[in-house]
Amino acid sequence: MAEHHEELDEAPEPPTLDPETLARRRAALAHVRKFGDPVLRTEARQVVRFDAELRDEIARMGVLMHDAYGIGLAATQVGILHRVLVYRVESDSPVNALVNPVLEWSSKEEEWAEEGCLSLPAVHVDVERPVHVRVRAQDESGGAILVEASGLEARVIQHEMDHLDGVLILDRTPRDQRKEGMRALRAALEAAEDDAA
Ligand code: ZN
Repeated sequence: MAEHHEELDEAPEPPTLDPETLARRRAALAHVRKFGDPVLRTEARQVVRFDAELRDEIARMGVLMHDAYGIGLAATQVGILHRVLVYRVESDSPVNALVNPVLEWSSKEEEWAEEGCLSLPAVHVDVERPVHVRVRAQDESGGAILVEASGLEARVIQHEMDHLDGVLILDRTPRDQRKEGMRALRAALEAAEDDAA
């Protein structure tokens, strides 16, 4: 069904990571809320205060996303119910932050692609989304920004905006893939619990 296999806020674990980088990735992932945590099903609130605390929060999310090898992260995923997301589609570009994003327009043209999620270990499912979007948002100082995005960038933004509304990729994938995804997820969460025990 998927024409290509792009990972969403989860990037595949590169096999050549040195132990220190791996440890950093694990530590970052430990800060990300996982499926079953009710916060992931809660709608995030509008940000009204653009202060130093918000800027710290955004900076921390950027570092966490980087360390976790993600390409996007919603505040919801770190337990903060603010309408804030960060993303970076190319590993050498700066981290983009969107505050209070609103989908202003999306294309009729849609496409399927495989997505993963830092909150759903081991889940890789196909999701159909508009190819092009226009999103109004604010930057970390409250200034207005307009983002026109296509392809992977548009997909990441939509995936993270879903998190702000409590929506997960399991809700957007066909039934057979949802069942398969839930199975993989339960096994991964159980294995993580055994590790911690
Ligand atoms: Zn996600």
